[in-house]
Amino acid sequence: MLVPESLGAAQAALADGARPLAGGTYLMPRLNDRATPPTRLVSLRRAGLDGIAVSDGAVSIGATTTFARIEDDARLAVLHPCVRSIAARPVRSLATVAGNLFVRQPYGDLAVALLALDAVVEIQGAAGPRTLPLERMLPIGVAENELVTGVRFDIPVAFRYHKAGRRRFNSASIVTVAAALTMADGVVRDVRIALGGLAPRPLRCEPAERALVGRPLDEASVRAAAAEADPLIEPFDDAYASAWYRRRVFPVHLRRALLGH
Ligand SMILES: Cc1cc2nc3c(=O)[nH]c(=O)nc-3n(C[C@H](O)[C@H](O)[C@H](O)COP(=O)(O)OP(=O)(O)OC[C@H]3O[C@@H](n4cnc5c(N)ncnc54)[C@H](O)[C@@H]3O)c2cc1C
Repeated sequence: MLVPESLGAAQAALADGARPLAGGTYLMPRLNDRATPPTRLVSLRRAGLDGIAVSDGAVSIGATTTFARIEDDARLAVLHPCVRSIAARPVRSLATVAGNLFVRQPYGDLAVALLALDAVVEIQGAAGPRTLPLERMLPIGVAENELVTGVRFDIPVAFRYHKAGRRRFNSASIVTVAAALTMADGVVRDVRIALGGLAPRPLRCEPAERALVGRPLDEASVRAAAAEADPLIEPFDDAYASAWYRRRVFPVHLRRALLGH
């Protein structure tokens, strides 16, 4: 394992065929049980990629910033329900923002929240830095010689996050719903909805958004939004829930996320 002390040195290690390791809370168990083949690792812990900046509602979070650090930062209250829904504090002290963008469902709760927040991902490769909307990055990932260096988003007027697991704390997602909302004159003016636990990767749900815009946020409009989302979702079976169950309870959790009951 290499432990470079700068981004440049981390990139050099990647170019040599090493794989990025952040908190290791996802990758290490898979290496230990050989679900992932052994590989050289480049730890990003000392590469100078952590940090949080908030200015005029614009948030920038470094790739290796841990969930515990987000949880302890009052300026990031918008993300607190999300990070507190992930694992327990010892794992949150290691797990990082960028690592969450690459895990398989039913993990990736922060990625769901960031997708609803329309986050932009900062990426560093041999050719220099580039940015990509998270929505475009999630299906394709990044190249082997690239690193995510951070994420950026604007704090929305209203944000809802709801995660259903087998237990209230320390459980992977059965259904996760995140939504950034703008209301005007009693109707939804703008909404961006992202779902977890309901597809192989975090899913933006535009049909549900369209069903809500221009309507009051109430039982009828949320039921209509869930019906519009149904053809889009691709729930799966795992140790937490069956695909059938996930599809069945999704409308309930969309309602809980958007209406609070
Ligand atoms: C007990 C337990 C409970 C958990 N519960 C949840 C949960 O409820 N919800 C949830 O979302 N997750 C959960 N997780 C999974 C995990 O903790 C998180 O998803 C975490 O965010 C992964 O981040 P990491 O820094 O540990 O990633 P790592 O394990 O270090 O890496 C994960 C992947 O990301 C890649 N990667 C990491 N950083 C970068 C980078 N900067 N650029 C490019 N690639 C990179 C790695 O190569 C690897 O493929 C849980 C884990 C445990 C052990």
